[in-house]
Amino acid sequence: MKLLEGKNAIITGGSRGIGRGIARVYAEQGANVAFTYSSSEAAAKELEEELSKLGIKAKAYKSNAASYEEAQDLVANVLEDFDSIDILINNAGITKDNLLMRMSEEDFDAVIGINLKSVYNMVKAVQRTMLKQRSGSIINMSSVVGIKGNAGQANYAASKAGIIGFSKSVALELGSRNIRSNVVAPGFIETEMTAKLDEKTVDGWRQAIPLKRGGTPQDIANACVFLGSDMSNYITGQVLQVDGGMLT
Ligand code: NAP
Repeated sequence: MKLLEGKNAIITGGSRGIGRGIARVYAEQGANVAFTYSSSEAAAKELEEELSKLGIKAKAYKSNAASYEEAQDLVANVLEDFDSIDILINNAGITKDNLLMRMSEEDFDAVIGINLKSVYNMVKAVQRTMLKQRSGSIINMSSVVGIKGNAGQANYAASKAGIIGFSKSVALELGSRNIRSNVVAPGFIETEMTAKLDEKTVDGWRQAIPLKRGGTPQDIANACVFLGSDMSNYITGQVLQVDGGMLT
Protein backbone atom coordinates (compact mmCIF):
# COMPACT_ATOMS: atom_id res chain seq x y z
CA MET A 1 0.00 0.00 0.00
CA LYS A 2 1.26 3.47 -0.87
CA LEU A 3 0.92 5.77 2.13
CA LEU A 4 0.50 9.05 0.20
CA GLU A 5 -1.59 7.85 -2.77
CA GLY A 6 -3.33 10.79 -4.44
CA LYS A 7 -2.09 13.44 -2.00
CA ASN A 8 -0.65 16.70 -3.34
CA ALA A 9 2.49 17.99 -1.64
CA ILE A 10 4.57 21.17 -1.89
CA ILE A 11 8.21 20.81 -0.85
CA THR A 12 10.42 23.89 -0.68
CA GLY A 13 14.09 23.40 -1.60
CA GLY A 14 13.58 20.13 -3.46
CA SER A 15 16.45 20.40 -5.92
CA ARG A 16 19.19 18.99 -3.68
CA GLY A 17 19.97 17.16 -0.43
CA ILE A 18 17.20 16.37 2.01
CA GLY A 19 14.46 18.05 -0.04
CA ARG A 20 15.28 15.95 -3.09
CA GLY A 21 15.24 12.83 -0.90
CA ILE A 22 11.78 13.77 0.40
CA ALA A 23 10.52 14.44 -3.14
CA ARG A 24 11.72 11.01 -4.29
CA VAL A 25 10.23 9.07 -1.37
CA TYR A 26 6.97 11.05 -1.58
CA ALA A 27 6.66 10.18 -5.29
CA GLU A 28 7.39 6.51 -4.53
CA GLN A 29 4.59 6.63 -1.97
CA GLY A 30 2.14 7.90 -4.58
CA ALA A 31 2.12 11.64 -3.83
CA ASN A 32 2.02 14.30 -6.54
CA VAL A 33 4.96 16.58 -5.89
CA ALA A 34 5.35 20.31 -6.48
CA PHE A 35 8.80 21.43 -5.38
CA THR A 36 10.78 24.64 -5.40
CA TYR A 37 14.38 25.62 -5.99
CA SER A 38 16.33 28.82 -5.81
CA SER A 39 19.01 28.54 -8.49
CA SER A 40 19.60 24.84 -9.37
CA GLU A 41 17.49 24.92 -12.53
CA ALA A 42 19.13 21.91 -14.24
CA ALA A 43 18.96 19.69 -11.15
CA ALA A 44 15.32 20.69 -10.63
CA LYS A 45 14.33 19.83 -14.21
CA GLU A 46 16.18 16.52 -13.97
CA LEU A 47 14.31 15.63 -10.77
CA GLU A 48 10.98 16.68 -12.29
CA GLU A 49 11.57 14.20 -15.13
CA GLU A 50 12.75 11.44 -12.80
CA LEU A 51 9.67 11.78 -10.57
CA SER A 52 7.24 11.97 -13.48
CA LYS A 53 8.44 8.53 -14.61
CA LEU A 54 6.97 7.11 -11.39
CA GLY A 55 3.48 7.85 -12.72
CA ILE A 56 2.71 10.76 -10.45
CA LYS A 57 2.48 14.46 -11.29
CA ALA A 58 5.68 16.38 -10.53
CA LYS A 59 6.61 19.99 -11.23
CA ALA A 60 9.52 22.25 -10.31
CA TYR A 61 8.98 25.95 -9.55
CA LYS A 62 11.64 28.62 -9.16
CA SER A 63 10.63 30.56 -6.05
CA ASN A 64 12.55 32.42 -3.37
CA ALA A 65 11.21 31.09 -0.07
CA ALA A 66 12.17 34.33 1.70
CA SER A 67 9.79 36.40 -0.44
CA TYR A 68 6.20 36.82 0.76
CA GLU A 69 4.97 37.74 -2.74
CA GLU A 70 6.75 34.83 -4.42
CA ALA A 71 5.20 32.41 -1.91
CA GLN A 72 1.74 33.79 -2.74
CA ASP A 73 2.38 33.43 -6.48
CA LEU A 74 3.84 29.94 -6.03
CA VAL A 75 0.80 28.64 -4.18
CA ALA A 76 -1.56 30.19 -6.74
CA ASN A 77 0.39 28.46 -9.53
CA VAL A 78 0.49 25.11 -7.69
CA LEU A 79 -3.26 25.30 -7.09
CA GLU A 80 -3.82 25.92 -10.78
CA ASP A 81 -1.66 22.91 -11.69
CA PHE A 82 -2.61 20.48 -8.88
CA ASP A 83 -6.09 21.69 -7.69
CA SER A 84 -5.47 21.13 -3.97
CA ILE A 85 -2.63 21.07 -1.44
CA ASP A 86 -2.68 18.36 1.22
CA ILE A 87 0.88 18.57 2.54
CA LEU A 88 3.31 21.48 2.87
CA ILE A 89 6.94 20.73 3.69
CA ASN A 90 9.03 23.78 4.52
CA ASN A 91 12.50 22.39 3.89
CA ALA A 92 14.42 25.22 2.18
CA GLY A 93 17.26 26.41 4.34
CA ILE A 94 20.77 27.84 4.37
CA THR A 95 23.64 28.34 6.80
CA LYS A 96 25.96 31.33 7.14
CA ASP A 97 28.07 30.24 10.08
CA ASN A 98 30.31 32.50 12.10
CA LEU A 99 31.04 33.32 15.70
CA LEU A 100 28.74 36.09 16.88
CA MET A 101 31.73 38.42 17.10
CA ARG A 102 32.14 38.15 13.30
CA MET A 103 28.52 37.59 12.28
CA SER A 104 27.32 40.40 10.02
CA GLU A 105 23.81 41.81 10.14
CA GLU A 106 23.43 40.74 6.52
CA ASP A 107 24.20 37.09 7.35
CA PHE A 108 21.85 37.15 10.34
CA ASP A 109 19.00 38.57 8.26
CA ALA A 110 19.60 36.19 5.33
CA VAL A 111 19.38 33.09 7.53
CA ILE A 112 16.29 34.31 9.38
CA GLY A 113 14.66 35.30 6.08
CA ILE A 114 15.25 32.05 4.20
CA ASN A 115 14.88 29.63 7.13
CA LEU A 116 12.21 31.22 9.34
CA LYS A 117 10.28 33.91 7.50
CA SER A 118 9.87 31.43 4.65
CA VAL A 119 7.82 29.23 6.96
CA TYR A 120 5.51 32.16 7.77
CA ASN A 121 5.30 33.03 4.05
CA MET A 122 4.34 29.52 2.99
CA VAL A 123 1.92 28.76 5.82
CA LYS A 124 0.16 32.10 5.16
CA ALA A 125 -0.02 31.20 1.49
CA VAL A 126 -1.60 27.74 1.96
CA GLN A 127 -3.71 28.53 5.00
CA ARG A 128 -6.88 29.56 3.16
CA THR A 129 -6.79 26.44 0.97
CA MET A 130 -6.29 24.08 3.90
CA LEU A 131 -9.00 25.84 5.93
CA LYS A 132 -11.47 25.37 3.07
CA GLN A 133 -10.48 21.72 2.70
CA ARG A 134 -10.68 21.25 6.46
CA SER A 135 -7.53 19.19 6.27
CA GLY A 136 -3.81 19.59 5.81
CA SER A 137 -0.44 18.52 7.15
CA ILE A 138 2.33 21.08 7.57
CA ILE A 139 5.86 19.79 8.21
CA ASN A 140 8.61 22.24 9.05
CA MET A 141 12.30 21.35 8.90
CA SER A 142 14.14 22.44 12.01
CA SER A 143 17.38 20.93 13.35
CA VAL A 144 18.76 19.53 16.59
CA VAL A 145 20.72 22.81 16.58
CA GLY A 146 17.41 24.63 17.10
CA ILE A 147 16.87 22.63 20.28
CA LYS A 148 20.40 22.61 21.67
CA GLY A 149 22.12 25.67 20.15
CA ASN A 150 25.56 25.52 18.52
CA ALA A 151 28.64 27.73 18.77
CA GLY A 152 29.15 29.50 15.46
CA GLN A 153 25.52 29.10 14.42
CA ALA A 154 23.58 31.68 16.47
CA ASN A 155 21.66 32.85 13.39
CA TYR A 156 20.87 29.30 12.23
CA ALA A 157 19.95 28.06 15.74
CA ALA A 158 17.65 31.08 16.23
CA SER A 159 15.91 30.40 12.92
CA LYS A 160 15.47 26.70 13.72
CA ALA A 161 14.24 27.35 17.29
CA GLY A 162 11.85 29.96 15.88
CA ILE A 163 10.40 27.32 13.57
CA ILE A 164 9.50 25.18 16.57
CA GLY A 165 7.61 28.00 18.35
CA PHE A 166 5.88 28.96 15.11
CA SER A 167 4.81 25.38 14.36
CA LYS A 168 3.42 24.74 17.82
CA SER A 169 1.41 27.99 17.63
CA VAL A 170 -0.01 27.04 14.23
CA ALA A 171 -0.92 23.61 15.63
CA LEU A 172 -2.93 25.34 18.38
CA GLU A 173 -4.60 27.81 16.01
CA LEU A 174 -5.56 25.41 13.23
CA GLY A 175 -6.17 22.12 15.03
CA SER A 176 -9.92 22.66 15.18
CA ARG A 177 -9.94 22.69 11.36
CA ASN A 178 -8.05 19.39 11.14
CA ILE A 179 -4.84 21.09 10.01
CA ARG A 180 -1.78 19.55 11.64
CA SER A 181 1.58 21.24 12.11
CA ASN A 182 4.68 19.29 13.11
CA VAL A 183 8.44 19.69 13.06
CA VAL A 184 11.21 17.35 11.97
CA ALA A 185 14.57 18.01 13.63
CA PRO A 186 17.37 16.21 11.77
CA GLY A 187 20.73 15.55 13.35
CA PHE A 188 23.79 15.05 11.13
CA ILE A 189 22.58 14.09 7.66
CA GLU A 190 25.08 13.02 5.02
CA THR A 191 24.60 14.70 1.65
CA GLU A 192 26.86 15.69 -1.28
CA MET A 193 27.96 18.57 0.88
CA THR A 194 29.29 16.38 3.72
CA ALA A 195 30.86 13.96 1.21
CA LYS A 196 33.39 16.72 0.47
CA LEU A 197 34.52 16.94 4.12
CA ASP A 198 37.56 15.22 5.56
CA GLU A 199 36.66 11.53 6.08
CA LYS A 200 38.41 11.32 9.48
CA THR A 201 36.44 14.28 10.87
CA VAL A 202 33.16 12.90 9.57
CA ASP A 203 33.93 9.49 11.05
CA GLY A 204 34.50 11.13 14.42
CA TRP A 205 31.00 12.61 14.19
CA ARG A 206 29.55 9.22 13.23
CA GLN A 207 31.14 7.52 16.23
CA ALA A 208 29.63 10.11 18.60
CA ILE A 209 26.10 9.15 17.44
CA PRO A 210 24.44 6.26 19.36
CA LEU A 211 23.38 4.56 16.10
CA LYS A 212 26.99 4.98 14.84
CA ARG A 213 26.18 6.52 11.47
CA GLY A 214 25.09 9.77 9.91
CA GLY A 215 21.51 9.98 8.71
CA THR A 216 20.47 9.88 5.06
CA PRO A 217 17.95 12.06 3.21
CA GLN A 218 15.83 8.89 3.08
CA ASP A 219 15.77 8.72 6.91
CA ILE A 220 14.34 12.25 7.01
CA ALA A 221 11.99 11.51 4.13
CA ASN A 222 10.54 8.48 5.95
CA ALA A 223 9.66 10.65 8.96
CA CYS A 224 8.02 13.12 6.56
CA VAL A 225 6.00 10.31 4.97
CA PHE A 226 4.66 9.40 8.40
CA LEU A 227 3.81 13.01 9.34
CA GLY A 228 2.26 13.71 5.93
CA SER A 229 0.19 10.55 5.85
CA ASP A 230 -3.02 9.57 7.60
CA MET A 231 -0.91 7.33 9.89
CA SER A 232 -0.23 10.45 11.98
CA ASN A 233 -3.77 11.88 11.97
CA TYR A 234 -3.78 12.37 15.75
CA ILE A 235 -0.31 13.95 15.94
CA THR A 236 0.17 17.72 15.90
CA GLY A 237 2.42 20.30 17.55
CA GLN A 238 5.26 17.80 17.90
CA VAL A 239 8.99 17.88 17.22
CA LEU A 240 10.29 14.59 15.85
CA GLN A 241 14.06 14.29 16.22
CA VAL A 242 15.56 12.15 13.48
CA ASP A 243 19.14 12.08 14.71
CA GLY A 244 20.22 8.51 15.50
CA GLY A 245 19.98 9.37 19.18
CA MET A 246 22.49 12.23 18.90
CA LEU A 247 20.51 14.56 21.14
CA THR A 248 19.07 12.37 23.85
P1 NAP B 1 21.05 21.76 0.83
O1 NAP B 1 21.60 20.49 0.30
O2 NAP B 1 21.93 22.95 0.90
O3 NAP B 1 19.73 22.12 -0.04
C1 NAP B 1 19.03 23.29 0.24
C2 NAP B 1 17.81 23.38 -0.64
O4 NAP B 1 17.12 24.61 -0.32
C3 NAP B 1 18.16 23.45 -2.12
O5 NAP B 1 17.16 22.80 -2.86
C4 NAP B 1 18.15 24.95 -2.41
O6 NAP B 1 17.85 25.29 -3.75
C5 NAP B 1 17.01 25.39 -1.50
N1 NAP B 1 17.06 26.81 -1.19
C6 NAP B 1 18.09 27.52 -0.66
N2 NAP B 1 17.74 28.81 -0.55
C7 NAP B 1 16.49 28.92 -1.03
C8 NAP B 1 15.58 29.99 -1.20
N3 NAP B 1 15.89 31.25 -0.85
N4 NAP B 1 14.35 29.75 -1.74
C9 NAP B 1 14.01 28.48 -2.10
N5 NAP B 1 14.82 27.43 -1.96
C10 NAP B 1 16.04 27.65 -1.44
O7 NAP B 1 20.47 21.58 2.31
P2 NAP B 1 20.06 20.23 3.11
O8 NAP B 1 21.25 19.77 3.87
O9 NAP B 1 19.35 19.31 2.22
O10 NAP B 1 19.04 20.84 4.19
C11 NAP B 1 17.63 20.88 3.99
C12 NAP B 1 16.97 21.38 5.27
O11 NAP B 1 17.31 20.52 6.34
C13 NAP B 1 17.43 22.77 5.68
O12 NAP B 1 16.34 23.48 6.24
C14 NAP B 1 18.47 22.48 6.75
O13 NAP B 1 18.60 23.55 7.66
C15 NAP B 1 17.88 21.25 7.41
N6 NAP B 1 18.87 20.43 8.11
C16 NAP B 1 19.91 19.83 7.45
C17 NAP B 1 20.80 19.04 8.17
C18 NAP B 1 21.95 18.33 7.50
O14 NAP B 1 22.76 17.69 8.20
N7 NAP B 1 22.08 18.36 6.19
C19 NAP B 1 20.66 18.89 9.55
C20 NAP B 1 19.60 19.52 10.18
C21 NAP B 1 18.70 20.28 9.45
P3 NAP B 1 19.03 25.50 -4.85
O15 NAP B 1 19.54 24.11 -5.15
O16 NAP B 1 18.37 26.11 -6.02
O17 NAP B 1 20.07 26.35 -4.19
